[in-house]
Amino acid sequence: MRHFDLFVSIIGGMAAALLSMDANASEPFVDVRSVDPTITVELRYAGRNNFLGYSLYPLGTPALARPEVASALPVAQAFLRRYQCGIKIWDAYRPAAVQVKLWQASHNSDYVANPEIGVGSLHSWGIAVDATLVDSWNRPVRMPSDFDDFTPAAMWRYMGSSDEIRAHVRLLQYAMHKAGFWGLRTEWWHFTIADWQKYLPQEVRRSAQVCGTHWEGKL
Ligand SMILES: [Zn+2]
Repeated sequence: MRHFDLFVSIIGGMAAALLSMDANASEPFVDVRSVDPTITVELRYAGRNNFLGYSLYPLGTPALARPEVASALPVAQAFLRRYQCGIKIWDAYRPAAVQVKLWQASHNSDYVANPEIGVGSLHSWGIAVDATLVDSWNRPVRMPSDFDDFTPAAMWRYMGSSDEIRAHVRLLQYAMHKAGFWGLRTEWWHFTIADWQKYLPQEVRRSAQVCGTHWEGKL
């Protein structure tokens, strides 16, 4: 698919998600910042700072999620504020057309869900977010790896090379656990709402469990 075509289909997908019903959702998705404006958003696929090196989302794309998912994030944000920290969203709702592009570029099922198997990415259902930690001025803090770092440093249990990094990643994981999210074995930044199954049609739930999504405990 040419980039322009992809872009048009993504804009269409975003508009559909915002303004009407998304094919994967029973109700419209909402802008995370409309629920909590203190949450920082830097969608990495909306710029060139991602592993593809070019933008996959239109400029100004909001971080969208199912209302239940968006409304859980302020719980993590409020917890982190007690530690002079906050969350930054790297990705949220991801149109299926973007998932296809990511899969074509990586072909690595440890890190990128194959859109043709099972339910594809849970991002495309509005029930997963990618998040990192920022300080009280919304500046990045040291974490085990960058976003979409396809190395062992991205693993949930990799705790980094210093006490500072270990403290940061544990704090993020605990805050998201308190907000009702589960982590992913291969990506410390990926979080899915704990009751994710209820948002999927019954006939695809089984495939979601066997399509390479490895759930860890809640923390
Ligand atoms: Zn993710």
